[in-house]
Amino acid sequence: MADLSLSHVSKRFGAQTAVTDLNIDIASGELVVLLGPSGAGKTTTLRLAAGLEAPDSGSVCIGGRDVTRLAPALRDVTFVFQQYSLYPHLSVYDNLAFPLRSPLRKISEADVKTRVLEIARMLRMEDKLHNPATKLSGGQMQRVAIGRALVRNPSVYLMDEPLSSLDAKLRNDLRLELKRIQQETGATMLYVTHDQVEALTLANRIGVLDQGRMVQLGTPQQVYEDPHTVAVASRLGSPRINLLARAALGPVSIPAHVHTVGLRAEHLQLTDSNAADAALRATVQRIERLSDQYLVHLRLNDSKAELIVAAPPAQLAHAGQSVGVHIAHSLWFDAAGLRVRA
Ligand code: ATP
Repeated sequence: MADLSLSHVSKRFGAQTAVTDLNIDIASGELVVLLGPSGAGKTTTLRLAAGLEAPDSGSVCIGGRDVTRLAPALRDVTFVFQQYSLYPHLSVYDNLAFPLRSPLRKISEADVKTRVLEIARMLRMEDKLHNPATKLSGGQMQRVAIGRALVRNPSVYLMDEPLSSLDAKLRNDLRLELKRIQQETGATMLYVTHDQVEALTLANRIGVLDQGRMVQLGTPQQVYEDPHTVAVASRLGSPRINLLARAALGPVSIPAHVHTVGLRAEHLQLTDSNAADAALRATVQRIERLSDQYLVHLRLNDSKAELIVAAPPAQLAHAGQSVGVHIAHSLWFDAAGLRVRA
């Protein structure tokens, strides 16, 4: 495995800027997830790393070697796409063996077999090796597609939403499996997803892209707890962070240059409407039951703004009830969406 770095990389398509001055250093064996809204430049970043696009400026290095001008086939990277591409007329075994049987590689059939069996064991598909690809379920097909990427043992894996075409259960299973395989093999991966659960569970670090720029790069915990912008704050967290205009909070003392206040549901506590530590007064609108907690949807009495508070089951409120809200922690942002530190 090798490290991957993109330095000051920019890419435009005509008038459209896809990526601007992007810097990212991925250590050998690290899994970095790129998150961001549609059009943020995630796929373009992967394609630039793969050599499927050439940057207008900046450089791409793999294993310390400048590969900016190198063709994709010479970069030793594999790309896994959302839509699995298997050879339908071949068995699982032959699909997995295919990348190893390239005439350029000159690998003996005995070594091919050893490697295919090793990957099949990792994928937990030893018993499916002789099935034709067409006889597999969607999840099994995608597992084989991922296996075909793993079998070659490239320097870097590039994955573009490899699980997004699967149903929720398979997606969960394969996500865990992919993490296990990545840890087992020490693979270096750059992984794109829209799914924040995938990002939080897979990533060593998360890079959040917005309009072609890397807005923040850090561990899942850093990005969640210490977001640099309002866009980053709202990308991670379920339920989504409550974002209120400063004015909606009425008497709460907040510096004048704060434009938006971010309140995560778990940083709010319901109290008695007359409690001394109640910063806000509200009325319960409805209650959403999750497996281990309730989400209480409130409307603030003064501003009529809506707010979601996480509450333990013991503290069950009812619709129409008047409550107070204690704010344990808040995140402040200026008019441009940048974080304002207390
Ligand atoms: P999504 O999540 O929708 O896949 P993304 O974050 O992967 O989005 P990109 O596909 O990298 O975003 O696109 C970034 C910007 O570059 C978009 O505005 C897109 O329209 C533009 N773009 C990407 N590829 C091309 C291309 N080949 N020609 C023209 N514009 C392109």
